[in-house]
Amino acid sequence: MNNNVLVINCGSSSLKFAVMSTPDNTVLVEGIGDRLGIDGSTISFKFEGKKETISLSEGSHHEAVTEIKNWLDQRVDIRDAIVGIGHRVVHGGETFSSSAVIDEDVIKGIEDCAHFAPLHNPAHIKGIREAQNLFTGLPQVAVFDTAFHQTLELDQYLYAIPMEMYRNHHFRKYGFHGTSYRFISQELAQLEPESTKQGIIVAHLGNGASTCAIQNGKATDTSMGMTPLDGLMMGTRSGSVDPSLVSFISHAENISGDDAINLLNKKSGLLGISEISSDCRTLEDAAFAGDERATLALDMFASRAAKNLASVATTLDSLDHLVFTGGIGENSNYLRGKICESLRTLNITIDADKNDNAPRGDVSVISEEDANVKVWILPTNEELMIAMDTISLIQQAH
Ligand code: AMP
Repeated sequence: MNNNVLVINCGSSSLKFAVMSTPDNTVLVEGIGDRLGIDGSTISFKFEGKKETISLSEGSHHEAVTEIKNWLDQRVDIRDAIVGIGHRVVHGGETFSSSAVIDEDVIKGIEDCAHFAPLHNPAHIKGIREAQNLFTGLPQVAVFDTAFHQTLELDQYLYAIPMEMYRNHHFRKYGFHGTSYRFISQELAQLEPESTKQGIIVAHLGNGASTCAIQNGKATDTSMGMTPLDGLMMGTRSGSVDPSLVSFISHAENISGDDAINLLNKKSGLLGISEISSDCRTLEDAAFAGDERATLALDMFASRAAKNLASVATTLDSLDHLVFTGGIGENSNYLRGKICESLRTLNITIDADKNDNAPRGDVSVISEEDANVKVWILPTNEELMIAMDTISLIQQAH
C-alpha cells in the first residue's frame, strides 16, 4: 500500500499544501489557501488536472485547514493512506540540524527562532497547531530550510563583527533553500554515485535565489545569510549591498531602518532595476522585444549569480559539478548561458545546443562530453523531500 503525506507550507497570508504519494512520488492533490486574513480569501484544489476554487468566509488558517480536511473526507482513499503531516519551517536557527518529529519541545524551538523569521515561524506554528487539532493522532514532522547548512564551519558562518554579537544574539549566517539543496544532493548521488565524494556548486534560481557549495554530501558555504536578503539579486530582493546603504536610504528617504530593509526586500532586484516586473519570464519577453532595462536586469542577475557561485566554490576541494535548479535555473536557457559564460575561468563550459534544447521538467546534462565540470539541470522537489523525511522519521519512531 502507498503511504501518503500531507505537506503543509504555512505562511502569514497563504497556506500551500500537497498530498504526496510514496513510494511512487506523485502529487495526488495540491492547492493554496490565499489572502488569508485579508478580504477575498480563497482556497484552491488541483486534482486530476482540474482546479476548483472555494471562497472562504472567515479567511482564517483554521478555515483553510478545515477545508483541506473536508476535501479529504470526500476522498477517503487518499485520506486513509495519510501516515503523517510534514511542515516546511523556514528558520531552525542553531537548534535544528535535521528534521524533527513535532512535540512541544520542537514547537518551543521554532518559537525561539521566530525573531530571525518573524513573518514565517509564527505562521508555521499556527499551521502546526491547526493540523494537530484537525488531524488528531497523525504524527507531524518539521523540515527546516536552514538545517542543511548547519554543517558550515565556524569561519564560514561567522560575520566579521564583534564576537559578542554571536555569543549574545546568535547573529551569523544560517542560509536557506536547504531542503532543495539536500534534495539535489541526493538526486545527484542517485544519478552519479561518485558525486558523494566530490565538489558540487548549486544555483537555486527562483523568485528567491541562492547558491550552495557541497563537498562529500555536506554544505560548506551558501550565499544567503541570517535572513534570505543576502547574496544573489532576486525577484524583488537586492541581494548583497554595502550594509551602510541601509542608513543612507533611511536618511535620504526619511524612512526607518526597517522600512529601508523592506525596500531592499520588496522593491529591489529584477523589479527594482527593470521597473517592469519581478518575473523572469516577463522580463525575458521584454528583453527579447528590445527593452534595454529588462536586458540590464537579467544581465545583472546573471553576473551576480556567477559571482556567488564562484565565491562558494572556494570552500570545495575540487569542482566537479554545477547544478541549475528552481524555476529560473530549470527553465531559462538565456540566464544559464550567461552565467556559464562568466564562469569560464572555473573551467565551466556548456554545449549551447544542449542548453537551448534541454527538455522542460527533466534531468539533463548541458556540458560537453569531456568537460571538467559536469553542468546539470535538475528539477528540485522540496515537497517530496519533506514527504520523504516525514515518512522516514515516523518509521524510525516506531
Ligand atoms: P520559483 O520561485 O522556483 O517558482 O521560480 C519562479 C521564477 O521562475 C519566475 O521568475 C519565473 O518567471 C521563472 N520561470 C518559470 N518558467 C520560466 C521560463 N520558461 N523561462 C524563464 N523563466 C521562467
